[in-house]
Amino acid sequence: MTVQNGIQSSPTQVVGGKPLAKRWDHVLSREAATRQSSIFQALHRHLDANDVLSLGPGAPSPQYYPFDHINVQVPSIPSSDAAKAVWDETSFTINKYDMKGGKSGYDLSSALTYGQGTGAHQLVDFVTELTKFVHDPPYQDWKCIMTGGNTSALELAFRTFTERGTYALADEYTYATAFECANPLGVKMIGIKLDEEGPIPSDMDDILSSWDEQKMGSKKPHVLYTVPTGHNPTGSTQSTQRRQEIYNLASKHDIIILEDDPYYFLQLAGEVAKDASELIKPTAMADLLPSFLKLDVDGRVYRMDSCSKILAPGLRTGWITASAQITERIVRAHEISLQQPSGFSQAFLYKLFAEQWKMEGLVRWFNHLQIGYTTRRDALMRACEANLPKEVASWNVPKAGVFGWVRINWQLHPSAEMLGPKDIETEIWNATAKAGTLIVPGSWFQPDPTLTLSTMFFRINYASLQPELMPEATKRFGDALRESFQLK
Ligand code: PLP
Repeated sequence: MTVQNGIQSSPTQVVGGKPLAKRWDHVLSREAATRQSSIFQALHRHLDANDVLSLGPGAPSPQYYPFDHINVQVPSIPSSDAAKAVWDETSFTINKYDMKGGKSGYDLSSALTYGQGTGAHQLVDFVTELTKFVHDPPYQDWKCIMTGGNTSALELAFRTFTERGTYALADEYTYATAFECANPLGVKMIGIKLDEEGPIPSDMDDILSSWDEQKMGSKKPHVLYTVPTGHNPTGSTQSTQRRQEIYNLASKHDIIILEDDPYYFLQLAGEVAKDASELIKPTAMADLLPSFLKLDVDGRVYRMDSCSKILAPGLRTGWITASAQITERIVRAHEISLQQPSGFSQAFLYKLFAEQWKMEGLVRWFNHLQIGYTTRRDALMRACEANLPKEVASWNVPKAGVFGWVRINWQLHPSAEMLGPKDIETEIWNATAKAGTLIVPGSWFQPDPTLTLSTMFFRINYASLQPELMPEATKRFGDALRESFQLK
């Protein structure tokens, strides 16, 4: 271990052409460093061996699981020229003892018993293959493990990398659950200023370079939480260059990047279609932006992928990719909390991904989602164009994910000086809600609610509303703005 400019670094070891991840002992919280292996979880590992006669763990007999088989019907996906023919309706069955007859790599008897803190190894193998295919991390000893979704993975990340009384970096507006997670752990988030591409590198550098331990009452942060693709709430997507700049700063200041990326596969067509009849092209896998994981030569990225936005949130399943040292610490935490995602979810996912769709089908599914969400985004953008008063409202076209972000020039409000941004935001929100359209005030996403920002935004989501209802939804919002700002 060497120390340079106060930053600890381990000598880089190269194995098989790629370096090994750096060691992260110096950023682990006391809790993370002292997590022990669960004795009983270790015992479960032996159950996978053939011919084992178990008088060991206290798992119930699969004979008494009241689930013999599950039939899953996967709807057909309409083919389109752009997405190419997809597939007809398919169905598959998950039986209790499919593994015994060699009929499948996974079955209900295995999915519904206790398992490892890594999640089912069959599913780990699939997401590892997907991660290699998409991100191919440039260091040797990376690992994937299954999680209970990104919320759970994020909470574990804060507990793994931060101590009470410290700070973490985040975006000036960020996913509210992130600070709702950090705050009760005694971790404050400090916001980096944003532009249309996300966190501004010079601001991040300034915050870290000028950090005054005495004034802040804590050492400088070593964690950055960011949502690089289809940011929640701003809808922004970091360009390749922006990602590289942020990564370089993370290296300079020895920062762990918590890459929360549930919208990664929802990268959308660039231009807004003029009308609904225009053909929309999906994004080729080769054109997906590089993740932080793909740039990660040090193993400093803790990447969180989720099944919530690509399949269904109720599955409560996702996966993380990080250095083996870090995933091992998370497995220890899983052993005494989540243990692993629900067996039903893991069984559905394994069958769907590994035995039905395989990589090719999954890519087609991503393409199908990209076409669907581009259609909805375009409908919302056209509706905003038609119905929002441009004198006071402006917005960017999201390149990924499901969120639009409308900037309000609140200084033009007739009572701007008397009311201030918070009251005007509340007035607009109430009037829009009363008119029957739900939008979300930007201030709800401020990690530090005591700061009064000079900007005002509302988040609008195009995922859940039918495109034909978007004109009416935006008209109600537009009318509320017109009334509030006394526009004609
Ligand atoms: N992270 C971000 C940025 C999100 O927008 C969301 C959901 O809206 C989540 C995490 C939640 O993910 P999960 O359902 O996997 O917990």
